[in-house]
Amino acid sequence: MSSLLIKGGHVISPEDQLDGELDVLVEGGVIRQIAPQISSPVDEILEAAGKVVSPGFVDIHVHLREPGGEISETLETGLAAAVSGGFTAICPMPNTKPVIDRPELVRAMIEKSQRIGLARVFPIAAVSMGSQGESLADFQALAVAGAVGFSDDGRPVKTAGLLKRALDAARELNVPLMDHCEDPSLSALGVINEGPVSRQLNVRGIPGASEDVCVARDLVVTESMGARLHVCHVSTSRSVELVRLAKRRGIRVTCEATPHHFTLTDQAVLEHGTNAKVNPPLRSAQDVEAVVAGLQDGTVDAIASDHAPHAPQLKAKPLGSDAPFGLIGLESALGVAITRLVHTGKISMWHLISLMSTNPARIVNQPYGRLSAAAPADITILDPQFEWTYQTATGRSKSRNSPFDGWNLKGAVMATVVGGRVVYRRN
Ligand SMILES: [Zn+2]
Repeated sequence: MSSLLIKGGHVISPEDQLDGELDVLVEGGVIRQIAPQISSPVDEILEAAGKVVSPGFVDIHVHLREPGGEISETLETGLAAAVSGGFTAICPMPNTKPVIDRPELVRAMIEKSQRIGLARVFPIAAVSMGSQGESLADFQALAVAGAVGFSDDGRPVKTAGLLKRALDAARELNVPLMDHCEDPSLSALGVINEGPVSRQLNVRGIPGASEDVCVARDLVVTESMGARLHVCHVSTSRSVELVRLAKRRGIRVTCEATPHHFTLTDQAVLEHGTNAKVNPPLRSAQDVEAVVAGLQDGTVDAIASDHAPHAPQLKAKPLGSDAPFGLIGLESALGVAITRLVHTGKISMWHLISLMSTNPARIVNQPYGRLSAAAPADITILDPQFEWTYQTATGRSKSRNSPFDGWNLKGAVMATVVGGRVVYRRN
């Protein structure tokens, strides 16, 4: 039974009300003890003085492209990117080829990821067969196979009627219905945010109303069902406000924000072209401020990367073309979040850890996101002061599409531990 001692770090775990200089003793894949100055003989010591020791990060919204999109990412490269970004567990969205809409596909993904042995994988399964928005997938069978949530991500749940049936099935299983909120009749053929930049570039815009209308629809249906909704990647001031009001009304809703939506505006498209083409699109400065305010006041529950790799040849098309939406984010998420939110004084490190670990683990009902005796030893060690330059060229992801490429960041992952094993260590 191998053992590991993480010494002298600043342990922060919101779930366990831990915030202080403590040692963490790990044995046989679980945490044995958290206390000052532990001195038992161990196989390995990780010196963590000056570092923050956090429960492992959980990313509830990623795309790993396998099966069917291995040209852009595989489970192996995606999981390597995850652990180097400090994520000990991730939830891949089902919009692969084929779509993850059958239990055997869920099981195959979990089994393969276990063989790879890096981050844990908790799949999100499709709401509808083929994510076509017609017939409901078999939620019960998919949940038994290991799906922890349901989404037709990439597109919204097609109709209010289908959403109602999906919420009914999800409520029975106590799992979240995770919607990509967009009204295609408003966003149709748009490529970036509708505003001065889309007019300057003369490309079709996606209005904020496309997201807002769908969030409003979802909240109304969710309230009538007494069910639980998770709104993916909020990007507009109005959808943040709708979720805020819904929470005040007692509606069971959570939402996530991505680092790109709380950091970048549509101006980034001018510099980065298709590498800043993402859905929902990068919005206005006012929207970015609203998402940050939502993070600050607890309206936004989680930070998720929406890691969306696309091979260079797929992105090497004109902005107004069918170049795919999405950008990679697993390896830059923590650095961008600390730089943008913590070093600016907008939120505390404690709050950041709840957004990246505690809360997302709770949203998908997993017993992670905490540091306590007998809990699985999934741990992220980070250095908030470490300055580095994010470079996609040296990243673990198979793809390079990120508008953060070349950014100087302050705050980095130093080591990632999954089930007591050190699966990533910064050189
Ligand atoms: Zn989406």
